[in-house]
Amino acid sequence: MNNIPVEEIPGNLTDHFDPKKRALFLSSANFNERSLSAVGVAAHEAGHALQQKNGYAPLNFRMAIVPVTNFATMASYFILAGSATLRYMGVIAGATFSHLMILGIILFAIVALFQAITLPVEYDASHRAKEQLFRLGLVNVSERGAVSQVLNAAALTYVAALVTALLQLLYWISVARDRR
Ligand SMILES: [Zn+2]
Repeated sequence: MNNIPVEEIPGNLTDHFDPKKRALFLSSANFNERSLSAVGVAAHEAGHALQQKNGYAPLNFRMAIVPVTNFATMASYFILAGSATLRYMGVIAGATFSHLMILGIILFAIVALFQAITLPVEYDASHRAKEQLFRLGLVNVSERGAVSQVLNAAALTYVAALVTALLQLLYWISVARDRR
């Protein structure tokens, strides 16, 4: 792939591949440093570019639901927190509360679904990254373990985000059942 620009972007952990701009952005540290973690992150982002090139379905699905997810994130928060507060204050009736909570929980489930679909996309990008780094000899045998560790640690943040979303979903379900 030679038509993907690689640009430096300020900030920490701001590294990403933009599928719309078809461009790779690396944080200053990863753009300039000569370290195994910089190599790992850069290759991971390039892995997302390869996913797009190969029409990797989970990436396309994830991209497609970004606008819906952004809306669902905002709307679910207002509906869930708002209706729980209004019910607590006695402003709305139990039936109204139940209906609003169901709507909010469905919207929040979309957010959790987004986190769930992010996992295979991220693991696959790291897999592609390692494959290319080893195949092209950019990382030697003794460095492979360190690169894998960097990429696995990055993937764990997405696991944590999914667990958090699922726990929040369970929390709102329990609130909905309690205050009926
Ligand atoms: Zn990624």
